[in-house]
Amino acid sequence: FYQSNQAAGFGSFSSGGKIPLGLKRKGLRIVVTGGAGFVGSHLVDRLIGRGDSVIVVDNFFTGRKENLMYHFGNPRFELIRHDVVEPILLEVDQIYHLACPASPVHYKFNPVKTIISFCVFFFYQFGILLSGFVLCFLSFLDSDFFAQDECGGDTEHVRAGKEGGRAVFANEHQRGVRSCYDEGKRTAETLTMDYHRGAGVEVRIARIFNTYGPRMCIDDGRVVSNFVAQALRKEPLTVYGDGKQTRSFQYVSDLVEGLMRLMEGEHVGPFNLGNPGEFTMLELAQVVQETIDPNAKIEYRPNTEDDPHKRKPDITRAKELLGWEPKVSLRKGLPLMVSDFRQRIFGDHNEDSA
Ligand code: NAD
Ligand code: UDP
Repeated sequence: FYQSNQAAGFGSFSSGGKIPLGLKRKGLRIVVTGGAGFVGSHLVDRLIGRGDSVIVVDNFFTGRKENLMYHFGNPRFELIRHDVVEPILLEVDQIYHLACPASPVHYKFNPVKTIISFCVFFFYQFGILLSGFVLCFLSFLDSDFFAQDECGGDTEHVRAGKEGGRAVFANEHQRGVRSCYDEGKRTAETLTMDYHRGAGVEVRIARIFNTYGPRMCIDDGRVVSNFVAQALRKEPLTVYGDGKQTRSFQYVSDLVEGLMRLMEGEHVGPFNLGNPGEFTMLELAQVVQETIDPNAKIEYRPNTEDDPHKRKPDITRAKELLGWEPKVSLRKGLPLMVSDFRQRIFGDHNEDSA
């Protein structure tokens, strides 16, 4: 790491130094790590649609080539099978770093790999970035950081999902089974700011709240994908605990719009990107019943340990500074996801699904 930074000119940048950007031109070359995944592939669609050239870097752990097949053959699109824990040298203008197993089922599969997916990427890439004119963005902290009741410190701040809130955990959290994800992202946020302050790398930080939409992994265990797949398969909807815990569900196109505005804007962040509409899991089950099958049954299961009781983003700063707020309500967004899941589960052809 040290050597690669030296070779890349790390030493030549004084604290607060600025990298010439030259970014405000059309047709950027942009890397999207994790671009074969759910969020990444929708972002790629938008960037290609805008006229940029996109290089997707993905190891296909959870991502699928099918998510990107619309772009195969497009000269402005490249796909590289690569693991972000290994260095890669690419000459680009912007990086959206999304690569990371995102659901508990996936990030617990190889926890050591999960924690280094974000951190090691920065060790290598920031060293390399310094020799280029690159604006770097990372998709960041799961909202668990500032939504858990048992967080220490500024608890009310944390509970309400305040923007820029500190990411503080109770003592046990760094040893928990979710810690590979949480601590990996938290360390990466520290590294990002250190490179920004110390070496002048342009960065943006987003804190993403629960997001749903077409191309989500079907069996990743998250609540929206579970309920939709269960209702389609005529299985009971599995509500964990009493179903009164809340989440705020953001449609993927709103998130992508927020990420792009953040990247193109002048503010580092962190910004909360989420839909403030708050639903209990029972209310979500009801929306799924109305959308797919009014006769779908509900089955209660024990909740997982440490489950946050409430999660709702405060997006005041994103509204003010990015001019961004979500547009798609749960009742509007869910049917689009249902069409995609129906097609993938049953092989139906439905134009709404992409
Ligand atoms: P996803 O699993 O669909 O996409 C992740 C992508 O990263 C996949 O294509 C996967 O193959 C790839 N990947 C994983 N590890 C890699 C590695 N080591 N090298 C190269 N590629 C790798 O998940 P998503 O929902 O699209 O999440 C994208 C990002 O957004 C993640 O960083 C996630 O933590 C963050 N996020 C998502 C949500 C959400 O609700 N979807 C919420 C908070 C944060
Ligand atoms: N959940 C549920 N049924 C499921 C899956 C999840 O009731 O089949 C609950 C889970 O206990 C949590 C909420 O839904 O309270 C959101 O879970 P998810 O894993 O989607 O996201 P996160 O907990 O990371 O916000």
